Amino acid sequence: MTVIEASAEAGRDFIRDIIRADLDAGRHTEVVTRFPPEPNGYLHIGHAKAICLNFGVAEEFGGRCHLRFDDTNPTREEQEYIDAIERDVRWLGFDWGEHLYHASDYFERLYAWAEHLIGAGKAYVDDLSQDEMRAMRGTLTEPGSNSPFRERPVEENLDLFRRMRAGEFPNGARVLRAKIDMASGNINLRDPVLYRILHASHPRTGAAWCIYPSYDFAHGQSDAIEGITHSLCTLEFEDHRPLYDWFIENLPVPARPRQYEFARLNLTYTVLSKRVLTELVRGGHVTGWDDPRMPTLAGLRRRGVPPAAICEFVRRIGVAKANSTVDVAMFDHAVREVLNRTAQRRMAVLRPLKVTIENYSGDGETMEAINHPDDPSAGTRRIRFGREIYVERDDFMESPPKKFFRLSPGREVRLRYAYFITCREAIKNAAGEVVELRCTYDPTTRGGNAPDGRKVQATLHWVGADALPAQVRLYNPLFTRPDPNAGDFAADLNPNSLEVLSDCRIEPALAAMNSDEPVQLERQGYFCRDTRVRRSREARPSRTMEQATEGLFLSSPQRCELPSFEMAAARPP
Ligand code: ATP
Ligand code: MG
Repeated sequence: MTVIEASAEAGRDFIRDIIRADLDAGRHTEVVTRFPPEPNGYLHIGHAKAICLNFGVAEEFGGRCHLRFDDTNPTREEQEYIDAIERDVRWLGFDWGEHLYHASDYFERLYAWAEHLIGAGKAYVDDLSQDEMRAMRGTLTEPGSNSPFRERPVEENLDLFRRMRAGEFPNGARVLRAKIDMASGNINLRDPVLYRILHASHPRTGAAWCIYPSYDFAHGQSDAIEGITHSLCTLEFEDHRPLYDWFIENLPVPARPRQYEFARLNLTYTVLSKRVLTELVRGGHVTGWDDPRMPTLAGLRRRGVPPAAICEFVRRIGVAKANSTVDVAMFDHAVREVLNRTAQRRMAVLRPLKVTIENYSGDGETMEAINHPDDPSAGTRRIRFGREIYVERDDFMESPPKKFFRLSPGREVRLRYAYFITCREAIKNAAGEVVELRCTYDPTTRGGNAPDGRKVQATLHWVGADALPAQVRLYNPLFTRPDPNAGDFAADLNPNSLEVLSDCRIEPALAAMNSDEPVQLERQGYFCRDTRVRRSREARPSRTMEQATEGLFLSSPQRCELPSFEMAAARPP
């Protein structure tokens, strides 16, 4: 497996070079591309690469990009997928305007072109079974052999094809094949199937058809009908290009589009096969297509990944012609970069440990906390400090190793936006677990600095007694191996891909924030509200404060481990 860091200088790649040359040479006056998903699943981050490329070049060259549903296989396609695809392309920030098309819009025209090929002696109806056809197709090294039905007269072919359309034959009884060359070195040219019989209702054309065109027969002709100039697809279609061109040359199509292939996106620890993603959903290995562990756009959205981060990631990996696998860390990095700029800061304690400040008396006080360190316009918020607070359990060690500078008996640390505190004693339960810390604070260090200039080596996040309970879900990679086996993916599933923490405490400002925008929980990573869970909760009438927050689900687009030691101040994740 090759892992690439980055390729192609952004904004310059072989596709853009071709387009620029075509425009310069006057071969085209405008650029028209298309994104052609088959509505048999949700879009994933690999599709985002194709979307950004197709819509991106159209935008850059002042052209347009069509959204075309490649809906030629009604047994696998569903309205739910159509809706999800439209939503996800829009969410990424692209707009097809009025250029929404379906291969099924062209069924009548495609049918007429099939008759045209029959009339020209370039297509025939074949009665061989699927198995017989496969057996006669030959191999990569051996030529195929001609079907006994190959020399049927034109009239008989036309009659049979019309009766196929009329529904006279059962599924699989006959197919229409192009008559090209059974000895071709390219298997795609060995009399490929153009139409198959399928008595199935179609989401758009209903019961109008019982024969459906193959991908190969529909794709290039749809491109030609729509005036696509550059038909960009992934490398597995390279061997189909001679067939794509054969149809364009042998049919009275209104334009001559050309196909160009680029490498598909592969990511470590990630499977981008629709078949596997479908099985993950159907098999209950995840909670749905929008499970935050899924590489689908719906899953990434629910995890809090901003669309800008996806587009930036795609821009950085570039477009090349050789297959490779991108380190998922590169994606995570792009996400962190965007969120670091945009996410407001908050504090929450995921595994709380109670702290009593023994020398603190009174009702507590209000501190001011900055919402974004680099953006004063994000403002400030108030947090409550008092005698009782909570810190992260992992921020205390009874007998710390050398480089652990956080809380331990006798150690002084800074509480973010508050005071220096010193740990005096750890209280344990009968099982010997630490359940509470007794600390003292230095009242002269309000705001985080000591008048005598003494330093502490760690700054910890914390929440006050007014913190609200919350459930937080931590998502880890779905697979344990960088290159999960798509054939037997279940063996590589990570049993710890979801960690649910039910006893978290979050500062009240976090619960009050009525938005799905991700926030940075200081020293923890980026989190966002789980919109799905909230939607279902909103339906419930009359909630008390307690109920309103107890189910606040946060999911994390990007997480970091608590640093094992800190220098002067908490480092943002
Ligand atoms: P299927 O196995 O169902 O064909 P697919 O992932 O190719 O799955 P399509 O709906 O045909 O799904 O894909 C739409 C477009 O997205 C195609 O042009 C395809 O080449 C492109 N695409 C799909 N997967 C990737 C990927 N991993 N990287 C880049 N482009 C992709
Ligand atoms: Mg495909």
